[in-house]
Amino acid sequence: MVVDQQAASVQYSQAVKHGGVVKICGVCSDRAKSLHFGGMACDSCKAFFRRSVQNEAYKHFRCSYEGRCSITITSRKCCQYCRVRYIGRRMAEPRHECL
Ligand SMILES: [Zn+2]
Ligand SMILES: [Zn+2]
Repeated sequence: MVVDQQAASVQYSQAVKHGGVVKICGVCSDRAKSLHFGGMACDSCKAFFRRSVQNEAYKHFRCSYEGRCSITITSRKCCQYCRVRYIGRRMAEPRHECL
């Protein structure tokens, strides 16, 4: 399992510096452009999730670590299972943001 929390936090501070407004993908901490899944999400996660639900491809995903992978910008490609599950959890959560 690749856990790179440091890279994620570096990405975070960069986004704060450049944008002023924090726009961070709630899934992998990459820079996000817009709201998806009830929170900020990057284009990569958005496209990944769309691909995953097409033809129910996500049903064939398997995790080698009992679903305990943490998803970061560097590890997001390592485990499709945990990534799609994480996005699914976020979507299931009630929205608290007022837009
Ligand atoms: Zn992302
Ligand atoms: Zn996993």
